[in-house]
Amino acid sequence: MTSSLRLPDSLPILEAGWVWLIGAGPGDPGLLTVHALNGLAQADTVVYDALVDDRILALAAPSAEMIHAGKRGGKPSPKQRAISNRLVDLAREGRKVVRLKGGDPFVFGRGGEEALDLVDAGIPFRVVPGVTAGIGGLAYAGIPATHRDTNSAVTFVTGHGVTGEVPDGINWPALAQGSPVLILYMALKHMGEITRRLIEGGRSPDEPTALVCSAATEHQTVAVTTLSQAPDVAKTLEPPAIVVIGDVVRLRPALDWLGALTGKRLEADPLGNRADREAV
Ligand code: SAH
Repeated sequence: MTSSLRLPDSLPILEAGWVWLIGAGPGDPGLLTVHALNGLAQADTVVYDALVDDRILALAAPSAEMIHAGKRGGKPSPKQRAISNRLVDLAREGRKVVRLKGGDPFVFGRGGEEALDLVDAGIPFRVVPGVTAGIGGLAYAGIPATHRDTNSAVTFVTGHGVTGEVPDGINWPALAQGSPVLILYMALKHMGEITRRLIEGGRSPDEPTALVCSAATEHQTVAVTTLSQAPDVAKTLEPPAIVVIGDVVRLRPALDWLGALTGKRLEADPLGNRADREAV
């Protein structure tokens, strides 16, 4: 921490018997919020998911009990109900509980379900939003979620429904036609099926597509391809990955600020419209 870094006064106190549902962001500990850091410093119990980066877990108080509540090492993940019950029990024991989830707790993270269970049990709680992988992870790949010259709408989609298949409740043709940029979570496994549905729905097979794996971690990789090639590329990659489909991907040669840190030369005017932009 730099000596001039100051934190706001009057940060909330994590009381005994409370649960703070905290988003840890996609990986880089620098993407934690001040509320997240404040919660980690006060918790005596931290219940965390598999996607939470070790560098973030290391920020909890050394005396805190660390409870892992996610899939790791091929073992099945505990049932959602079991996790909620655990949170309720810990709170009733008078612990100061932090429930730490990757990204944002309310974005494809079942944070809403856990919060509802806390409400049911009468446990007081606070929600600390986090930087979601579909925005922050893409930013680490130099890809904005929106850009005035490419899209005035964006849609977040999960590629994995409750049954483990491509979600049925999605109107794929409407998505294909109505959303210029699609940001897909949990989509690697079903990339073939998703791509097929989008192209059938009217999407161009040549549309720029990026697959960003382990975004904002030390292992980040970015593959840029086309929609029709994305399933083959997906087969060579390891989750977690965010997939983004749309013209925003064309901005990466200019906006890959992380690449620039390691010597990559950034390309000015990647959309070829600088003259138009200057006229506005
Ligand atoms: N609540 C989380 C999402 C949980 S669902 C959030 O807001 O980010 C898990 C999915 O999130 C993964 O399958 C992947 O699609 C995405 N994800 C989470 N962390 C990621 C990361 N560091 N890099 C790429 N994708 C990530």
